[in-house]
Amino acid sequence: MGRRQQLKVLTAQLHVSHSQISTYLACSLKYRYRYVERRPLERRGIALPFGIAVHNAVEHYYRSLKETGSPAPLNYLTELFSDTLAQGVGATDVPIVFNKALPDIDQAHDRGCKMLEVFVADQRGSTDKIIGVELPLSAPLRGTDGQDTGFQLIGIIDLLVEDEKGRLTLADLKTAAKSKNQKDVDADLQLSGYACLLETNGYILPNAPVEGRLDVLMKTKSPKLVRYHSRRTVDERRRFKKIAAHVLHSIDAGVFIPNRGWLCTDCEYADACAVWHMT
Ligand code: SF4
Repeated sequence: MGRRQQLKVLTAQLHVSHSQISTYLACSLKYRYRYVERRPLERRGIALPFGIAVHNAVEHYYRSLKETGSPAPLNYLTELFSDTLAQGVGATDVPIVFNKALPDIDQAHDRGCKMLEVFVADQRGSTDKIIGVELPLSAPLRGTDGQDTGFQLIGIIDLLVEDEKGRLTLADLKTAAKSKNQKDVDADLQLSGYACLLETNGYILPNAPVEGRLDVLMKTKSPKLVRYHSRRTVDERRRFKKIAAHVLHSIDAGVFIPNRGWLCTDCEYADACAVWHMT
């Protein structure tokens, strides 16, 4: 089942994802425009279709490795990347906003192909066993008091691997222009949300920690792959559930406030936001 179909199944019920929670926390007005009003986009940053295209190629690499024992070859991955990027950029009828790392479509294309070269070279010698690729999971979201919020927490885990000692690691692939700070990785809500899903679906024991990893493909002139490790304990999973429950309460109460910052640079709703206080 493809990612789109998986999402369709997961979103058939009342649900919330880590990405909705993170969007709300970063800028709740943006959340309202995107998820409550489903407002048409005013523009689209190149980062999103670019990230989707890289992600799609990497997914095929792992899927092929899991299903056939051999990874998809680099030329197949770069072709897939090119097609997905062209589709993503062509499918939208709003202006695409390029940025310093990806200043135009040709440079975005070349940069993505180089990043995939780096990714493939980095995989050689890995002995991890692949347990899941694009693993779709859902579970009832309960607050820390155990009360059902009525929402399903949903997520699709990029990669779940097991090392020689049987330890599981959940990994998520990112593309980024800047390196990350370990403190931000340790506070990353996506890893915490996925750890909750692994626990509720029986992949890990209720009191056991789970290893998390962000594989960050850097969009720099000389691309590189940086791996950040961060464990998720019961305490962090509990914290995630409490944050999620509070976000749901705030949405229910209609609390949506603009939070100006770096997200505004290529915000899809900047025009609406500029006059938000006038209405
Ligand atoms: S422009 Fe900035 S403050 Fe306004 S909705 Fe977008 S991200 Fe939020």
